[in-house]
Amino acid sequence: MSKVDMVRRALEASHAVELVLLEERYGWPSIVGNNAIDAGARFAIHIAPVGDFHRNPNEMRFQNPGSNRPVSDDDGIPVLLGIEDSEEPILLVAADAQSRVGRTTRFSVRIEKSMIPKARQEGAAVFTNGSGERITAFRAEFLPSFLAATAAGYELPATRLNEISDASGLRDENTDAAAERARRAASILIRDQTFGAKVRDAYGHRCAMCGLAAGLTVGAHIYPASAPGSPYTTDNGVCLCENHHRAYDAFKIWFDPATFEIRVHPDVIAEAGGDPYLKAFLDVTFDTLKVPTDPAKKPSAQYVNQRRQYFDKDYDWLGNT
Ligand SMILES: [Zn+2]
Repeated sequence: MSKVDMVRRALEASHAVELVLLEERYGWPSIVGNNAIDAGARFAIHIAPVGDFHRNPNEMRFQNPGSNRPVSDDDGIPVLLGIEDSEEPILLVAADAQSRVGRTTRFSVRIEKSMIPKARQEGAAVFTNGSGERITAFRAEFLPSFLAATAAGYELPATRLNEISDASGLRDENTDAAAERARRAASILIRDQTFGAKVRDAYGHRCAMCGLAAGLTVGAHIYPASAPGSPYTTDNGVCLCENHHRAYDAFKIWFDPATFEIRVHPDVIAEAGGDPYLKAFLDVTFDTLKVPTDPAKKPSAQYVNQRRQYFDKDYDWLGNT
């Protein structure tokens, strides 16, 4: 089978309509687009068959086609995949493409053999090989999620994919309907994770209302994710610590869309009068939201206003401002 046929086989097995083969070339790489994440997202997919590694019966491997065929990132985000299609379901094995870009030597990606049946059974499997490299094997249905995670600079969360395989029935039924459920659930998971990470990055991982970092922040939606047409863009997010996130979601705290002035519910201010701990919480709360300097990453007034309209009466305490 040619490498282009292997790419086609992987795309077909993913059942993902959003993945399109833009340029076939020779499969080293083929250029693939993912329309679901960004119209311009291009991936340079380098693919090779996974085969036995005769020197070690506990390992398998895949290789680049030759020393003069390095991994290239000229035309897209580089992706390095092995394909294991000796039986259904078809598996893909991802290794670190970035570290191999431009390297003009022959290389083998070595894989622990036991991860193949594990990934086939459970949806995904991860292991770290002898060179300290993280290798992820996953069912082809998770290819779009893998590409979305790669574009965002994140690793595929194998344990969560196993839970998804379970919950969607993929493990037991292995039907098209189960595969579709699993694919969707995985896409939502990656979308949520990359959104949170993007927002936290934009704020230097600090709470915009108190400056707390220490890994205790989340990327929160402004116009809520559950609302129709709510985008997963940084300007529809704000980085908050767990406490300010809860207060924001409970409509106890608000920021002005134009000035970013922070306003606290009058009941909370009154309660703080008799509660030194609550007062301490309000004392560390900034007067004004600390937002990213990049205008494109600041909270958009549109989404702040949409949030207020969406929750309507919950924000009555703001009055006419
Ligand atoms: Zn905070």
